[in-house]
Amino acid sequence: SDPILEVRNLHVNFDTHEGTAEVINGVDFTIEQGETAALVGETGCGKSVTVKSLMGLLPSATIPEGEIIYKGQNMLELSESEIHARRGREMSMIMQDPMTSLNPVLTVGEQMVDVLKWQGQPRMSLTEWLRDKLKSGSEAEYRQRAVEMLSEVEISAPERVFESYPVELSGGMRQRVLIAIALLSEPDFLIADEPGTALDVTTEEKVLDLLDELVEERDTSVLYITHDLGVAREVSDYINVMYAGEIVEQAPTADLFADPHHPYTRGLLRSIPTLATGIGEGIEGHLPDYTDPPRACRFADRCPHAEPECRETYPYPREVESDHNAACHLFDGPPAHERHVDLGAE
Ligand code: SF4
Ligand code: MG
Repeated sequence: SDPILEVRNLHVNFDTHEGTAEVINGVDFTIEQGETAALVGETGCGKSVTVKSLMGLLPSATIPEGEIIYKGQNMLELSESEIHARRGREMSMIMQDPMTSLNPVLTVGEQMVDVLKWQGQPRMSLTEWLRDKLKSGSEAEYRQRAVEMLSEVEISAPERVFESYPVELSGGMRQRVLIAIALLSEPDFLIADEPGTALDVTTEEKVLDLLDELVEERDTSVLYITHDLGVAREVSDYINVMYAGEIVEQAPTADLFADPHHPYTRGLLRSIPTLATGIGEGIEGHLPDYTDPPRACRFADRCPHAEPECRETYPYPREVESDHNAACHLFDGPPAHERHVDLGAE
């Protein structure tokens, strides 16, 4: 079957006082139907910007090039209202911070019922809908559906939680509520932005296991966003490693761990805390300035293998093994994607 999502040569720019920041610089990745993929990289690498462009939530950015093909349709060619119609229904999102994502002045139940009612209004954003408060359907049905969903996320007193305000719940409980809300519309595609990161490790693990089960049952396609390669290994079938707005390596999860290629991926692997010591080695240095990144390879300032060539010739992604791509001069193979990157006048 066709992939549910194909991102092709995506570029996202922001205008800043220092000039144009090329925050996403030619990103390609694919999510197959029913697959769980991960987008991994350190904070500031462009994960969230990628996600926001998928959701059509980047009003201040320009997208000079690229395609975001969802179920065969380029999202970048859709009107605002057509995007609204998909966002939150077909495509749903779990945010990383349950405290700021839930409305503190409404009970859990009120928020869930609002989402269910809004789903009957195909041409409106949730905000527009809430403004208009259009009502349809029966209150009792909505309540029943919301309570069912709360028990599906293994909340043991769903009726009580339905009546609760977010502040009355624990962090783990709030995260479960957010999962319940994201799944209310039975989305085909779910983006999970660092779910559980705000929680302690044990609770995070439980939340990830639960989410894993729920999406498996529903055959939902998922994109996990995480800075933690260890988490990506637990939850995903396929991993895309992102550095400074580019995908530097992508492979099925098992292959990536068995045979990591790119120096950045190897660095990330070393930074996963080991069981024995509980600590990992971080990668020296920091992300480049997006208004003036190193020419050619954006990782050159931090790479232990950097050669002059790395600043001269763009490291196009190469297919280093079947379905396994790496963008680094150390590795050769056929081009992974058809693409041209303009490095300015030579
Ligand atoms: Fe390092 Fe060069 Fe590979 Fe970039 S292209 S990751 S600088 S070896
Ligand atoms: Mg983020």
